[in-house]
Amino acid sequence: LTSSPKSSGLSVIHIAAEMAPVAKVGGLGDVVTGLCKALQKRGHLVEIVLPKYDCMQYDRIHNLRALDVVLESYFDGKLYKNKIWVGTVEGLDFVGLVCAAPLYWDLYAPKGLNSARICFTCHNFEYQGTAPVSELASCGLDIHQLNRPDRMQDNSALDRVNPVKGAVVFSNIVTTVSPTYAQEVRTAENPPPSYLPLQKIRQDGALNFSHFRLGSGWKGEKEGNNGCKALLTTLTCLAQGGKGLHSTLSFHSKKFVGILNGIDTDAWNPATDTFLKVQYNVNDLQGKTENKIALRKFLGLSNADVKQPMVGCITRLVPQKGVHLIRHAIYRTLELGGQFVLLGSSPVAHIQREFEGIANHFVNHDDIRLILKYDESLSHSIFAASDIFIIPSIFEPCGLTQMIAMRYGSIPVVRKTGGLNDSVFDVDDDTVPLQFQNGFTFSTPDEHGVNSALDRAFNYYRNNTEVWQQLVQKDMNMDFSWELSATQYEELYLKSVTRARVAANRA
Ligand code: ADP
Repeated sequence: LTSSPKSSGLSVIHIAAEMAPVAKVGGLGDVVTGLCKALQKRGHLVEIVLPKYDCMQYDRIHNLRALDVVLESYFDGKLYKNKIWVGTVEGLDFVGLVCAAPLYWDLYAPKGLNSARICFTCHNFEYQGTAPVSELASCGLDIHQLNRPDRMQDNSALDRVNPVKGAVVFSNIVTTVSPTYAQEVRTAENPPPSYLPLQKIRQDGALNFSHFRLGSGWKGEKEGNNGCKALLTTLTCLAQGGKGLHSTLSFHSKKFVGILNGIDTDAWNPATDTFLKVQYNVNDLQGKTENKIALRKFLGLSNADVKQPMVGCITRLVPQKGVHLIRHAIYRTLELGGQFVLLGSSPVAHIQREFEGIANHFVNHDDIRLILKYDESLSHSIFAASDIFIIPSIFEPCGLTQMIAMRYGSIPVVRKTGGLNDSVFDVDDDTVPLQFQNGFTFSTPDEHGVNSALDRAFNYYRNNTEVWQQLVQKDMNMDFSWELSATQYEELYLKSVTRARVAANRA
């Protein structure tokens, strides 16, 4: 859009709702920036298209300027002229505007933009953005062509269209963010998770790619604000793997694949992290202890026993994350004699209120602290200070905090679902090779499940100091960088573009 490729690399445009650090709500922002940096390092021209939100951190966008071109797009049924803003964020080209996959084929392909292939990555099938059928016309799209069961019509509410379904149908490639989640969403109900080796996909070819990403940025509207609705949402999470799209995903399964996300290992590096009181690395863990002491002082927690285990949790407080299990883990940690630090906030009013109640209850407590806000700096301090990190999700497309926690030497305690099932392997599971055993897992999303894993983690920490230290070092050395995943995306892009070229040559 703003430059031309310098080498023989691909031209990849990521169209996304978030980008860290300028517009981040959750993991989607991290993923867009991390994957794009990895693709750029491999010699591809990468550009990121975002809505130009008013609330972006504009001080972190360099050289922001309006382009001298006009882009027309439909809004409310009329064609409008849009300004395009460009700049760079962390060395990546950023473009401020919006688009979607059906729009591409209907409006832009006929104007000659027909050499690009489209990859749609869904970060979370919970957020599908369904809308009344009339909204299609306001985007300049043909209702009769698109409001069909095999195209954009929602699978359960027949008077609504479903943009995520449309993206699945109209994209050349569909990916999601872990192999296990890709299996789960193809079923009407979540299957019991099982060990799946990471997938390696081999393909070859070359050029031009648009990559659409949807994720937790589309939050809020579905979560309601009363207890009844939230409870229903939780049950629905348990009952529906594909959230109504399982038949569509199964039908299009040949182009659908799960690729585990990575983390940006430059941004998340305890050896260079300037948010920390003391930097540390796998060969010098004294710094980790100093961060624990510093965080305790900062939060007013007891510093009486440096060996008292600290459990960390950093999350959006939404039903998907198992909020009732997080609450239970706080009380269980207290019973086990540990400390618990929660950093999180909720868009769901009754959940926010409930956690405010718990936070107030423990406001001067020696061992429990709840900080109910978004705080990037504090999140780094908690990853560094904690010994154990808990993620009891009901479902989890990928999850990044378990990988970040391991990089900072905090051992994950997780429910076996989605990407957690692809990245955390139980230290007591003999069916998993020793070098992959890196945490504590449980299957049943209830209080017994949490206890079964959390209690074992406390036992290991207290009774096997040497084994624990080795586990911390093993986890810090695990490779969760974008390298392998970026290779998989690159191979998918190349294969699809090669197919398009062959088809064009035949024509
Ligand atoms: P999701 O995308 O579903 O929110 P992920 O585990 O994929 O979950 O990513 C969460 C990201 O957001 C991580 O980088 C985590 O550190 C960050 N995060 C979540 N809540 C907070 C918070 N309250 N303050 C700071 N960072 C947060």
